[in-house]
Amino acid sequence: MSVQRWSVGDATITSVVEDETHHIPPEFFFPGVTAADLLRQPWLVPDYTDADGNIGLRVQALVIEVAGRRVLVDPCVGNGKARRLPFWNDMSWPFMERFAEAGFTAESIDTVVHTHLHADHVGWDTTQVDGEWVPTFTNARHLYTERELTHWRDDADRVAEDVYGDSIAPVVDAGLADIVAEDADLGDGMRLEPSTGHTPGHVSLWLERDGARALVTGDFLHHPAQCAEPEWAEIGDHDADQARATRRRMFDAAATSGALVIGTHFTTRPAGHISVDGEAWRFDPV
Ligand SMILES: [Zn+2]
Ligand SMILES: [Zn+2]
Repeated sequence: MSVQRWSVGDATITSVVEDETHHIPPEFFFPGVTAADLLRQPWLVPDYTDADGNIGLRVQALVIEVAGRRVLVDPCVGNGKARRLPFWNDMSWPFMERFAEAGFTAESIDTVVHTHLHADHVGWDTTQVDGEWVPTFTNARHLYTERELTHWRDDADRVAEDVYGDSIAPVVDAGLADIVAEDADLGDGMRLEPSTGHTPGHVSLWLERDGARALVTGDFLHHPAQCAEPEWAEIGDHDADQARATRRRMFDAAATSGALVIGTHFTTRPAGHISVDGEAWRFDPV
C-alpha cells in the first residue's frame, strides 16, 4: 500500500496503517444491523462496504507535521500484546517498518495524542524489551484526558486484559505523560474537542492552518455508514445515547466547517467531507 498523505494548509497528515480487514459481517460491530441495512447506502460500495453488505475496518495511526512538530495520533494495537480479541492478540505487524517507510523515526515524534484509551489506540506507545514494556516514543509528551485515564486505570477488567498496565503505565512511570483538558489548545492550530460517549473521556482533534480545517474523528464513529445512520451504536460504545448525540453534533460541525474529515477506522479512502443528506449526512471521500 502506498503512503496516504493529505495537506491541510501548510500542514500534512500521513496515515500509517497497521491493519485493514474487509468482508466483516456488520453485526460484529453494529448489533442488530444487517447487510441489507448497509446496502441501502450504495455510495458505501466498494470503499467501505462490499457488494454483499459486509463492512471494512482499518486500524491506522496518523502523523501530523505542523510548524516543525511531529504529532502522532492513536498508535494502534501494537505487537506482542496479550489481548482478548484473537485478531489483536500477540501480533507481529510490520508497523514500525511502515512508519519508517513513511519517513518517520520514533525519536522524531514530539507529541502523542490519544482520542481515547482503547487497546487499538495506544498499542505502539510501548515496545517489549527484555520482557518489559518500555516507551517507544521516548522524546514525546503523551497526552491523556483525566476522565479517560482514570476510567481505564481503575477498570476492573484489567485482570483479563491489562491495556493500562502494558501500554499506559510504562509511559506514566517514565515521566512522559501529561494530563490535558478535553478542550485543550495544543498549539499550532491543533485543539481537542470532547466527543464523549464511545468512552467517558473521548476527544477528537481539530487542525486549522491557513483557513483550512481537518478533523481526526477517533471512535465517535467507526464507519461512514453512521453518517447516514447516526443512531447505529457500535458494540464498544460505553454510553450509546451520549455517543448518538455526539455523532449528530460532530457531523453538524464537520459539515458546517467544510473540514477534511479523517475517519480513524475508515478503509481504503479514509479522508473526505461530510455533507448534509436529507435528515442525516453522507461522507464523500477525496
Ligand atoms: Zn474505541
Ligand atoms: Zn478504535
